[in-house]
Amino acid sequence: MSTKPLTTAQFFRQFPDDESCLNRLFEVRFGQDFECPKCERASKWFRIKAERAYSCQWCGHHLHPTVGTPFEKTRTPLQLWFYAILLFTTTRHGVSAKELERQLGVTYKTAWRMARLIREHMADVDSEGPIGGPGTNVEIDETLVGGVKRGKENRGSAAKTIVVGALERGGELITAVVPNQRRATLEPFVTKNVRIGGNVHTDELRS
Ligand SMILES: [Zn+2]
Repeated sequence: MSTKPLTTAQFFRQFPDDESCLNRLFEVRFGQDFECPKCERASKWFRIKAERAYSCQWCGHHLHPTVGTPFEKTRTPLQLWFYAILLFTTTRHGVSAKELERQLGVTYKTAWRMARLIREHMADVDSEGPIGGPGTNVEIDETLVGGVKRGKENRGSAAKTIVVGALERGGELITAVVPNQRRATLEPFVTKNVRIGGNVHTDELRS
């Protein structure tokens, strides 16, 4: 894809700590005014400090933005996960566990597990064939990676860098980093990676 991932400097401005990572994950997956799955009202969502969760203003239902992502059960800081994913998206031939260990300052065992999970969730878009086709269900899911605030010329609109995954139910997941959620950006990804003829679900995708 002809899209630019974040630079390292941009990354650390966007994600100075775990809180900013969790907030971005929440924003990309749900966002304020997200309809509560329990009471079905559009809600403001409040951060619960004791866990990686947000609470409904009306009924107190909790949303956990890490559930269903590679970082669901991890004790490794989210910022390290995000940075590891950035390394994977910017390195053409992949990242070894040894390299992750060195870059992140984690143990080799942790680095190896992270690399395995990230690889499971990512595949080189250029080398993988399309998924889906007649009789299949494909889910397009956005998880996150970053965000770059544009200057005045774009009237301050935020262009999000997100990871888009096309997941065939019970099957493959292919992932690419795209700079925003506009239809024009997402369409080439979908066209290239999803076969025509099946059902495509984009529940969480606004475009
Ligand atoms: Zn609620």
